Amino acid sequence: MTTPPVITRLSDPEFGSLCDDLAAQASLWNVPEHWPGGPIHQCAASGALRWTLSSDHGGVDWSPDRQLLAYHRLAQADLTTTFVLTQYAGACRRIAGSENAAVRARHMEALLSGDRFGTVGISHLTTSRRHLDRPILSARQTDDGGLVLSGVAPWVTGAAHAEVIVLGATLDDGREALVAVPTDLPGVHCGPGVSMIALSASCTDMVRLDDVVVSPSMIVAGPVDDVMSTGSGGGTGGLQTSALALGLAAAAIDFLADESDARPELTPIADQLKRDCEAQLDDLLTAANPPGEDQHQVHKTEAPCDPMAIRGRANDLVMRCTQAAMTAAKGAGFVEGHPVGRWCREALFFLVWSCPQPIAQNHLCNLAGVSGDTAG
Ligand SMILES: Cc1cc2nc3c(=O)[nH]c(=O)nc-3n(C[C@H](O)[C@H](O)[C@H](O)COP(=O)(O)OP(=O)(O)OC[C@H]3O[C@@H](n4cnc5c(N)ncnc54)[C@H](O)[C@@H]3O)c2cc1C
Repeated sequence: MTTPPVITRLSDPEFGSLCDDLAAQASLWNVPEHWPGGPIHQCAASGALRWTLSSDHGGVDWSPDRQLLAYHRLAQADLTTTFVLTQYAGACRRIAGSENAAVRARHMEALLSGDRFGTVGISHLTTSRRHLDRPILSARQTDDGGLVLSGVAPWVTGAAHAEVIVLGATLDDGREALVAVPTDLPGVHCGPGVSMIALSASCTDMVRLDDVVVSPSMIVAGPVDDVMSTGSGGGTGGLQTSALALGLAAAAIDFLADESDARPELTPIADQLKRDCEAQLDDLLTAANPPGEDQHQVHKTEAPCDPMAIRGRANDLVMRCTQAAMTAAKGAGFVEGHPVGRWCREALFFLVWSCPQPIAQNHLCNLAGVSGDTAG
């Protein structure tokens, strides 16, 4: 197989071809046995992991808005592959941003070239199992500065396919560490992927760690308080989830627009949703670059928007667009195998993926028709 050229501009014809290839295969990824290894490797070989890194870390110095636009376009073509890519890119960014030269030297080149697949299991430090009394994945320090990890990382996308997983763990004193754990270490048990209502082919599952001994050379960050606020792993932060939601919304709008060729009553619906989607994408791209930074291929609005508000609106839009597409597709859309049914299920993912509690609470209030104050 020939290696595709590394894409350095979104205007490269190769980027359009990559999106077309992803879209052509998107309907194939339905169950955990359907891991989209080919498209993931194609994206990595096309430079998709380098897009989110600076040149001193092996990247291509793309501005945050350009990174988001690229992932938005990929998500429009194939959400499963693009979602896996975000977790892969998250592992790359965390390791690239590490002050530990040993961990960078061990993994970076193999990860960026696509020769090694990496992923993250960090949600238990942010949005998962936060209500429990004890950390679900604990760490204790060894005399040589290493760690022993015990417990469970509840959500790890592509765990069974990963050679390395960046895991978050909590020490008894409350400090946290991020560790690049090779999956062939004794005591690491990766689930094969659970069956979910959508994105099952992302092979998301828990990873159990039975007294896994990790050396200092594997520590990415910490132990420190609030390790997630350190390093450059956050990248564009929560905005990336919104970029993917708007990508899926755009796929549903394209379907409505195609249908409207033969059904003129759908034209104003598709047009209005398209305007909403474009306005939200503009806000997203504006919010991605701090004031004063150059923008690429986007229009500026007066004030950058709050990422939380952007996520809330993107969640709302992706639900509206996919359900509008289902309404237009009628019973045919409800039959297994029609893309609109898959998109409707995928839209629900944004209600739970990395969803900050205020957005979840706001959504619940809207559904129940109560004000945020009433709900406490
Ligand atoms: C398809 C998919 C892929 C994912 N991939 C990754 C990944 O690769 N890496 C990663 O780090 N994360 C990943 N995540 C995790 C994701 O970002 C969220 O953290 C996760 O969806 C939060 O859900 P949870 O069930 O763990 O939440 P929890 O808050 O743990 O809720 C679980 C259950 O606990 C109960 N509960 C919740 N809150 C309370 C409370 N206050 N008091 C009492 N009971 C409560 C409820 O019954 C709830 O159903 C993924 C999630 C999904 C769905």
